[in-house]
Amino acid sequence: MKKHNFYAGPSILPQYTIEKSIEGIRDFAGTGLSVLEISHRSKEFVACMNDTIALFKELLDIPSGYQVLFLGGGASMQFCMVPMNLMEKKSAYLNTGEWASKALKEAKLFGDAVEVASSKEKLFNYIPKNYTIPEDADYFHITTNNTIYGTEIKKDMDVKVPLVADMSSDIFSRTVDVSKYALIYGGAQKNLAPAGVTFVIVREDVLGKVTRPLPSMLDYRVHIKGESMYNTPPVFAVFAAQQTLKWLKELGGVSAIQKKNIEKAAILYNEIERNKLFKPTIADSEDRSIMNICWVMADNYKELEKSFAEFAKSKGMLGIEGHRSVGGFRASTYNALPRESVEALVGVMKEFESKN
Ligand SMILES: *Cc1c(COP(=O)(O)O)cnc(C)c1O
Repeated sequence: MKKHNFYAGPSILPQYTIEKSIEGIRDFAGTGLSVLEISHRSKEFVACMNDTIALFKELLDIPSGYQVLFLGGGASMQFCMVPMNLMEKKSAYLNTGEWASKALKEAKLFGDAVEVASSKEKLFNYIPKNYTIPEDADYFHITTNNTIYGTEIKKDMDVKVPLVADMSSDIFSRTVDVSKYALIYGGAQKNLAPAGVTFVIVREDVLGKVTRPLPSMLDYRVHIKGESMYNTPPVFAVFAAQQTLKWLKELGGVSAIQKKNIEKAAILYNEIERNKLFKPTIADSEDRSIMNICWVMADNYKELEKSFAEFAKSKGMLGIEGHRSVGGFRASTYNALPRESVEALVGVMKEFESKN
């Protein structure tokens, strides 16, 4: 039976990336060596790194003045690197979920990190709208897509202070005006590559303004100077990211995939609203994520939650249980998830409805 991969992360990759990864594991760039055993200083891997950075810049239309870095440590490492590198005294955070809360917690270790608004009292089921960002903040931090709760900030904001965004789970899913951001970061394991590599897009003029001493590994300038090779980069994950970016380019780039993503999300949200057994967790459609779609059983059918989970699994729907902190269901509809998988899930939801 065909398996449909709705896992939130690590998550589905294009078949192209899987096939090219297998080839690269056997013979990387005609070297006769595996990508798993080649020096990161070899000319073949240096070329791979440079091409991956070039594709990254091209597909996101990154203006000059920005650097793209591939680091280790996950998005979670960026929770401390951002304040260490950018905050002298004060920063501002929008608390829209568990990842945003974790980012804020780390920032508090390094200065006055202010929570400008939070949707925690409603289990993060909306994006706060009216708040004031202190003008003396060194930056304002947002999480554009809240992977666990299924909300998303889909418009690039205009703010008076440098804007920093965790885009772990929506990078490359929609067009972004990078010029509005001072720094964008994320783990690659949601929409780009296997786990192990973290991307950072940083406008160089925001760096070098803090007085605290920075450990080399936590200093963006060190990694810029080292061209993401200050220490050994996650070679295989970078190679896989290159394959995904080639696939995306071939497909027509970010605006082309965005159109498909919006269609996929609409198919699933429509079914959640139509089906008497289910209801969406995010009421305002403006706040709904197009990458992580969350729903629960409708009030009269709560007792069917477990049996729907089992039924869906028996039909090959993998990874649709909600995050352990929220329960219910979540289908991640990342770039690589084909529309047929969404249609198959909708079919299963309809079949379950007709049985109940
Ligand atoms: C998955 C995720 C993280 C954590 O990423 P790690 O690479 O595991 O540290 C952070 N932020 C968001 C929005 C995520 O989806």
